[in-house]
Amino acid sequence: KMSNCIFCKIINKEIPGKIIYDDDVCIAFLDLSQATYGHTLVIPKKHFENILEVDAQTLAHVMQVTQKLAKQIVEKLNAKGLNILTNTNEVAGQTVHHFHVHILPRYDEKELVIEFNDHSQDVDLDEVYQKIVK
Ligand code: AMP
Ligand code: ZN
Repeated sequence: KMSNCIFCKIINKEIPGKIIYDDDVCIAFLDLSQATYGHTLVIPKKHFENILEVDAQTLAHVMQVTQKLAKQIVEKLNAKGLNILTNTNEVAGQTVHHFHVHILPRYDEKELVIEFNDHSQDVDLDEVYQKIVK
């Protein structure tokens, strides 16, 4: 157990969390920030830094629970859609280094901004393709 990790502390009940789901492998709890109404985090009980580190079996389970809770949250909170997001490393905005999946229920197009700019004029798709697959 990572003694200094805030999410490990929530798992171990050392600090409180509004835990909405709990099984042998993972828990889910309400994100304190509530970036959107019902914002929830799904995390494995075992400490992994991020999605690149977690083993495939645990990841599969976390994603199954994420889908199940996403359906429940959308239904119970009357959301119109949702974003599923996992930040990896500081450059991508990760602040807690215990792998977690964000469930962000959506009610309005403007309540949350995840901007995809169009750089298609500046990027050679074939070059990118070759770099990735070679
Ligand atoms: P990330 O930026 O992807 O690392 O997200 C970390 C998230 O954890 C943020 O959305 C925080 O609001 C949330 N968070 C941090 N501490 C707690 C806590 N004690 N209970 C619930 N959520 C937390
Ligand atoms: Zn941890």
